[in-house]
Amino acid sequence: MDSDIKRVLVVEDNPIVLKILKHLVKQELNQSTYEVDYVDSMLGAKELIEENNYFASIADLNLPDSPDGEVVQYLLDRGIPCIVLTANYSEERREKLLVTGIVDYVVKDSRFSFGYAVKLVHRLALNEKIKILVVEDSRTARKYVCDLLLRHQFQIIEADNGIRALALYEEHPDIRLIITDYHMPEMDGFELVREIRGRSDKSDLAIIGLSSVEKSTLSAKFIKNGANDFLQKPFFPEELHCRVIHNLESIELIQALNDAAHKDYLTGLHNRRYMFDSGEALYERAKRGDSPLALAVMDIDAFKHINDTYGHEAGDAVLMFMGKLLREAFSRFLPVRFGGEEFCILLPGLTQAQAHSLMDQFRARIEEEGIYFEDNYLQVTMSIGVTSQLRNSLDEMVKIADEQLHRAKALGRNLVIGDTS
Ligand code: GH3
Ligand code: MG
Ligand code: MG
Ligand code: MG
Repeated sequence: MDSDIKRVLVVEDNPIVLKILKHLVKQELNQSTYEVDYVDSMLGAKELIEENNYFASIADLNLPDSPDGEVVQYLLDRGIPCIVLTANYSEERREKLLVTGIVDYVVKDSRFSFGYAVKLVHRLALNEKIKILVVEDSRTARKYVCDLLLRHQFQIIEADNGIRALALYEEHPDIRLIITDYHMPEMDGFELVREIRGRSDKSDLAIIGLSSVEKSTLSAKFIKNGANDFLQKPFFPEELHCRVIHNLESIELIQALNDAAHKDYLTGLHNRRYMFDSGEALYERAKRGDSPLALAVMDIDAFKHINDTYGHEAGDAVLMFMGKLLREAFSRFLPVRFGGEEFCILLPGLTQAQAHSLMDQFRARIEEEGIYFEDNYLQVTMSIGVTSQLRNSLDEMVKIADEQLHRAKALGRNLVIGDTS
């Protein structure tokens, strides 16, 4: 459990700034994920660093015992990503800070800037899970980009030409962003973008093209070939960072919209619409005789009783628990929430007998397990209808399974009824 917690260190001596930061941390950072320690001196920071592993830090540049950013250097030397708070801005200071390897600097001039710093901590945690492929033939240029991305905790994969990049993309289909140069041996940036776009579209994978000022028309060409964005070389660290975040956020937003359309908010399972959309191909395969297909519809018994006795929130907790069990037990298949306390599972590759036996195991497991909600131990049972009669549509299969489910209810509940029972 403890290893999932991300510890953040905030080093700041100004009590007003500390108060604002504490407030923003509460608002922006989930308390079950982040634990934030506050300290007002470099000495205090050193003591805490001895004892804890910090995932990231926010540090004031001027402290009584660290007048010129010594604490920042101390944090960086220990490999702790650092977001710097500075009271005033100068070009010289910016330059000095960025070469040290900090994540970013924030000028303490508004509430907005503190909000930015705190949100950036959460962004770093998200970035840790994101793979970026950097394609650039010049070692120096590649290193520059990779170093900047590493500061933001991304997982980096490198390639020095388009062919190699394609192979790496095959190997890591979960790459979310590709940053690619134009001029490279073997396969150039345009050809790479065209190849990639044949496989993944803009909402699954973002591409940022790099072009040099001498050839400014390259930017437009990158976009026309399917890139999401471009950046002209040479660029500042902040420019790269903004473009990367902007493009990742667009993808995440589309993903969230897709999830909202296809997933059930409470249980995290897919919804009815998703099952019919993605089940169609499986149904057609079964219809052609290529592979069997079974379908189960299940409904929690006397669920109203849980709500009536322990409250609606207890009912929600049971539904969430059910979602978790279904995901675990049927990870190979497609379990969905149909609505209310009713679920459906599409079981491709299973015969009636196999599906029936699997569902009966699940029914028995539900009977055994329960969850604590507040002081009550809640247990429920399930009635299940299973069919492998394909009839004329997936919709008809659902109707048959539903009829079997009603028979299970009529026969006393906590029962699986299949085509032959
Ligand atoms: P049966 O054994 O015949 O299925 O009885 P039941 O009580 O499970 O069925 P009934 O259809 O009478 O009641 C279902 C209840 O489920 C009624 C409804 O308020 C509740 N319900 C539906 N969706 C939710 C939800 O998202 N959360 C909670 N807590 N309750 C829900
Ligand atoms: Mg080049
Ligand atoms: Mg019910
Ligand atoms: Mg019901």
